[in-house]
Amino acid sequence: MPLAPKTVIQALRGITDPASGRSIINNDMIRDLYVAGDAVHFTALVADPADDFAKTLGDQAAAAIEDATGTKAIVKVQIDTPMIGLDTVGGGQAPKHRFNGASVIAVASGKGGVGKSTVTVNLAVALAQAGYSVGLLDTDIYGPSIPTMFGVTEEKPRVDSNRKIVPIEREGVKLLSMGFLADPEQAVIWRGPMVSNAIRQFLGDAAWGDLDFLLLDLPPGTGDIQLTIVQTVALTGSVIVSTPQEVALADARRGVAMFENVKVPVLGIVENMAYFTPPDLPEKKYHLFGEGGARRLAEKLDVPFLGEIPIEQTLRESGDAGTPVVSGNRESVSAHAFTDIAEAVALETALLKAQMPAQEQVEIVYR
Ligand code: ADP
Repeated sequence: MPLAPKTVIQALRGITDPASGRSIINNDMIRDLYVAGDAVHFTALVADPADDFAKTLGDQAAAAIEDATGTKAIVKVQIDTPMIGLDTVGGGQAPKHRFNGASVIAVASGKGGVGKSTVTVNLAVALAQAGYSVGLLDTDIYGPSIPTMFGVTEEKPRVDSNRKIVPIEREGVKLLSMGFLADPEQAVIWRGPMVSNAIRQFLGDAAWGDLDFLLLDLPPGTGDIQLTIVQTVALTGSVIVSTPQEVALADARRGVAMFENVKVPVLGIVENMAYFTPPDLPEKKYHLFGEGGARRLAEKLDVPFLGEIPIEQTLRESGDAGTPVVSGNRESVSAHAFTDIAEAVALETALLKAQMPAQEQVEIVYR
């Protein structure tokens, strides 16, 4: 059977870089991935091209692919060293993620109230639970609800001795919100330049540390403000949240178009409020807003479908109580859904980065 790039990425994930102790995929060491039939080619960015790990990487990759798929792949590996954007630590051994190496992902929705912030928060926590270092920047100036969902509305980030803003940390996620800066009641007076200045400050003047993922919760909609934000940050990709009904899908389609216009890859669509299961009728699924609309939209637009989340009382309650459901109620259906969606987002991001040319290692996070 011909190999798919995604299957190859999943197989390579099992290979550990001895210098950092992390998976070569999670450590963002693969570029130029090309898969055709049973032929696999990639460039590996390693700290020391002369060591055993680099020399045996091709064999390790072939073994991992055969284990995962049963296919004996013809693997060709080019060894390169990381340039700017991947720093070295530990005596020049391990490629280290600088902020500039983080995958910056915008979470957007065509309209308000579809659960975009709920998805962003739980996605961030689920990625942190999976071992990634995660930052979350809430840019929803119209309704910064992320501080409520993390229970930090009364907190203000402090400034460290280097005069950098220190993100507030909750559930393993580093958090900054426009809500810490401005009174939401004042949001109406925010104009494009003010928003992009605030975002530049949050990106450049904050002590985020090393991040694998920086999630950006965008204001709902696809107007000027959203476009300004999307153009202020060099995004790795975007996630669109929609509910299943037609009116929401029409807006989600505009969201996809907005990102395509500015050449930001759409990692996929998440369907929120997909169905309702009454607690006393656990076998039933009521599709209150219609069935499978976002999945069909994803197919039609040829973007990945990342998963669906049911309407759940515990999800709403967890949000209001300031403990995201993926940590507060891990056994709930929605918590499992978020864990799977985080995995899908990580996989789509890894695929996107692995297919980037090796020369494009330098990522400018904000313009
Ligand atoms: P948005 O960011 O799109 O405006 P929010 O994430 O703030 O939407 O969600 C709006 C409200 O709906 C919140 O009270 C949230 O807890 C609730 N909510 C979101 N998704 C779900 C869901 N799947 N089940 C139950 N309540 C939800």
